[in-house]
Amino acid sequence: MNKIPITEIGPSEVIQLFFPVSNFHAIVVVDNTALGPSIGGVRVSPDVTVEEVKRLARTMTMKNSVAGLPHGGGKAGIIADPRDPKKEHYFRIFSQAIKDLQEYIPGPDMGSNEECMAWIYDEIGRATALPEEIGGLPLDKLGATGFGLAECAEIACPYAKIELKGAKVAIQGFGSVGKAAVKFLSEKGAIVVAASDTRGSICNPDGLDIKELMAVKEEKGSVIHYKTGTVKKCEELFLTPCDILIPAATADVISKDNVDGVKAKLILQGANIPATLDAEEIMHKKGILSIPDFIANAGGVIMAAMEYAKKSEKEAFDAISERIKKNTKLILEKTFNEKTLPRQAAEAIAKERVLKAMAYKRVS
Ligand code: NAD
Repeated sequence: MNKIPITEIGPSEVIQLFFPVSNFHAIVVVDNTALGPSIGGVRVSPDVTVEEVKRLARTMTMKNSVAGLPHGGGKAGIIADPRDPKKEHYFRIFSQAIKDLQEYIPGPDMGSNEECMAWIYDEIGRATALPEEIGGLPLDKLGATGFGLAECAEIACPYAKIELKGAKVAIQGFGSVGKAAVKFLSEKGAIVVAASDTRGSICNPDGLDIKELMAVKEEKGSVIHYKTGTVKKCEELFLTPCDILIPAATADVISKDNVDGVKAKLILQGANIPATLDAEEIMHKKGILSIPDFIANAGGVIMAAMEYAKKSEKEAFDAISERIKKNTKLILEKTFNEKTLPRQAAEAIAKERVLKAMAYKRVS
């Protein structure tokens, strides 16, 4: 586990919310607010930890900074099963508990969606990625993050010596991000050869039919029911022979324990912190290009910030395309020119803006 120590950036607040009577336990971390009130998702998972939320909040500080947004980084975790029938109740308790924490603006994350954001908005009038009926830009429904990943791929492929048209893609996690990434990448000519969810992986080196895969997931609950493919274990997804690998589920899924089996030439980090730092170093030495989470998956938060600033859907998509393409190119140029890791290149750029903004703040 990569621990986030207290640094010159943050975290500024680490809050545990625990209401034993309601069996409710949540964590909120505000990492840094020098650029503005923090925006970050609410993860709902039975095993989300304080350390994980701290790392995710730091990722949001970096992501919002590089994306040029007037927002700092924060994150929350509700420790519960996302299918718990008391989910709405938990979200309403959560909302009231963070009502006065103005420096944190919630958004969706794994286990939460636009409906959950509508519950928060109903309680406290402060949330992003709202349903369109109440004036929002529903970023998961619109596929903002998946769209951004496909835009990122367009720039990154030549650096990894891949042709995007015809590139073979394997994707871990077939939720909001995974499905949208698959849709937008296949529109650019990529071929999806493997996909997974919590029940297992489905693989076919000749390509999976995207429409059918989505229908199977919708109707039967898992990609493993797709007919013309080989069903494998979840973790075998990472061993798939492919050009582009997209982790789009949980944290630390590429680690020193499985990195040697990774065959892709390009990793697009759809999930937040999907690879450990040592795994990123090993991949870099092996010539596998890994685009860090806060560059590749910034589409969602860019759309969230655009919604918060009352911009249109078109303005949001244009901003995602322009900013992700520009940043991918920027960090890859720095990576190759300075012979550094993509994450180091990206962090240097993100940190500079945060530290400059912090320098304008009153000291005491
Ligand atoms: P989601 O809940 O919609 O989907 C997650 C998917 O991952 C589900 O299909 C689930 O079955 C699958 N999954 C979970 N554990 C798995 C495992 N061990 N193996 C295989 N599949 C597994 O979540 P989402 O919104 O798509 O988010 C996915 C990741 O992307 C998270 O790390 C999130 O922080 C990150 N992210 C999301 C957004 C966004 O716009 N939603 C933006 C940036 C980053």
